[in-house]
Amino acid sequence: MRFDLLIKGGEVIDPGAGYNGRMDIAVNHNRIAAVDSEIPAKSAFRVIDAAGQYVTPGLIDMHAHVYKDVTYWGVDADAIGSQTGVTTWADAGSAGAITLGGFREHVIVPSRMKIFAFVNITCIGLVAQDYELAVGEYCNVEILKRVVNLNRDIVAGIKLRAGRSGGSMDLEPYHRTRKAADDLELPIMVHLSTAPPGLETVLGFLKPGDIVTHCFTGQNMGLVDKKGKILDIAKKVWDEGLIMDLGHGAGSFSFDVSESLVNQGYWPDVISTDLHWMSIFGPNLMDPLKGSAFGDLSESSDVRSMIVQIKGDGKPVFNLLTCMDKMLFLGMPLPDLIKATTSRPAEILGLKGETGTLKPGALADIATFVIDKGNFELQDIHGNKRLGKKRVRNIMTINEGRILKPLEIPDPPPWVEIVG
Ligand SMILES: [Zn+2]
Repeated sequence: MRFDLLIKGGEVIDPGAGYNGRMDIAVNHNRIAAVDSEIPAKSAFRVIDAAGQYVTPGLIDMHAHVYKDVTYWGVDADAIGSQTGVTTWADAGSAGAITLGGFREHVIVPSRMKIFAFVNITCIGLVAQDYELAVGEYCNVEILKRVVNLNRDIVAGIKLRAGRSGGSMDLEPYHRTRKAADDLELPIMVHLSTAPPGLETVLGFLKPGDIVTHCFTGQNMGLVDKKGKILDIAKKVWDEGLIMDLGHGAGSFSFDVSESLVNQGYWPDVISTDLHWMSIFGPNLMDPLKGSAFGDLSESSDVRSMIVQIKGDGKPVFNLLTCMDKMLFLGMPLPDLIKATTSRPAEILGLKGETGTLKPGALADIATFVIDKGNFELQDIHGNKRLGKKRVRNIMTINEGRILKPLEIPDPPPWVEIVG
């Protein structure tokens, strides 16, 4: 019996299975059937020549916003994934208890990929730009529990945006998030942005296994002091097993902070994008009201314009591959980087062995890449630049045995203006 598909001659990197080197990957139906140093071409109906390419498990983007056409932030997961090797997504809080049903029906079901949800503590989810926590009653733990328990197959955890963007000054939503997560036995994903509350207060609500996203943020809830030294409280929770996620986005990646943290030995567990309409087109986000970088939220910026202007030529630059370029620039070894975008997020999402690995029996989620060498300008959200020497480029994305045709990224919604 012949295999359906054979990917031959590639340089396989799969830290989840311990593969590292030239290997052939055979697929039957939607699963990995065999991995070996030499599988004859004649043993498969279709052979893909991957010589000169890296072959990895399909990537997992653990923090993105993909509730398209319903929320301010949501982008098209299928279009982006098909161009970037991403076959599994976790949406970070777009849906709340009331809107999770719609997320399943209108995003998860029609998708060619796998999509999971960190459900927002507020029942309205993150429909508009900010202030989702402003109405305390909407953080209804009982309703959340009922909905999550009917949808456990798609729920990865509970999301809370800590800081000013949520629009609540009191700590009740934090208490309710803790209670919901404990009762449901799910992790919390908390985002760090701008105080109040302070970092120590927010971290105080978390337990090992919970997730801190935006760990390389340069905003004032960041994990380093003014000199770049890791804060004692951050060191403590990082060492104790809180999961650290990059969550680059339009407001949460600083080269200065990341260089300081990696120099002290602190790397994120997971590399994710925080991809949304304001981060997909590029780093040059302009807030027309304030004339400042959109992501550079100063302490006094209470008012953000909802209409965002983005300087750029419309080409997506903030995708998972760009985040990987930045990690390579920072010196993250390639196998560690692949681990942080495959097997580690798979483990956190409860998908270990199912995806994020090429081990026989796993879903045939596969990506192939080349790494270009040259000079590539990289930019953080504060406008600071670095010169990268490597650029990761996706060649092929395979979801559950199916080679995905790259889809066009749709035009942005009316509140996003591409200028210049
Ligand atoms: Zn986010």
